[in-house]
Amino acid sequence: MTGEDSHDNPETRMARLVLGLRSGGVSDPKVLTAVEKTPRDLFVPELFQERSWEDSALPIACGQTISQPLIVGLMTQALNVDGRSRVLEIGTGSGYQTAVLARLARLVYSLERYRTLLKEADERIRTLGLLNVITRFSDGFTGWPEQAPFDRIMVTAAAPETPTALLTQLKPNGILVAPVGRGPVQTLKRYVGDGEGGFVVEDMGDVRFVPLLPGVAREL
Ligand code: SAH
Repeated sequence: MTGEDSHDNPETRMARLVLGLRSGGVSDPKVLTAVEKTPRDLFVPELFQERSWEDSALPIACGQTISQPLIVGLMTQALNVDGRSRVLEIGTGSGYQTAVLARLARLVYSLERYRTLLKEADERIRTLGLLNVITRFSDGFTGWPEQAPFDRIMVTAAAPETPTALLTQLKPNGILVAPVGRGPVQTLKRYVGDGEGGFVVEDMGDVRFVPLLPGVAREL
């Protein structure tokens, strides 16, 4: 972002971000509105405030990242959430994707393996007045069996392979979106339940996510 851009007001920056999402393929007006209503600067650490409105992933605490807005938009759109959906998210991180989902879904359940990130994300979600989010400190690899089945599942860290445990927690016609792969570049995959226990799998292109790590973090 140039010096000139950084003098723009938040509305102008947000408008530019939304335009970028549109040209990147996010066409669902409900998704665009959900992004527009979610002030990204609230989720970005002090050090990177100036870059809050850039369409790029940024570092957050615990060596993790807040996702790139375009990817948040594309993944949210691919999940096809509506006001009846109960959504499971793996990897709360900053809570940004959680907040965007909460504006579209009935209920969002979100799991995170770092206590510090979860505590901060909870505060932000409370600040925004989003009452339909339930978070838990736990290993997302195993999902949330007590609350399953879910209409939708979004994984915001890279799964090394097909997330089979999570697919078993999806309703028969549900949708799961996840980056899958072991390297620095993964494939964004969309699994659509065929109603009979099988899935139609679509590749949505290359993405770069931090890996899904096993167990909860012992450090803060
Ligand atoms: N959606 C987040 C992106 C966070 S990055 C945002 O918009 O900010 C991915 C997150 O997944 C990290 O916070 C990481 O700690 C978390 N994560 C990785 N493995 C996990 C696991 N097994 N269970 C729960 N969370 C996990």
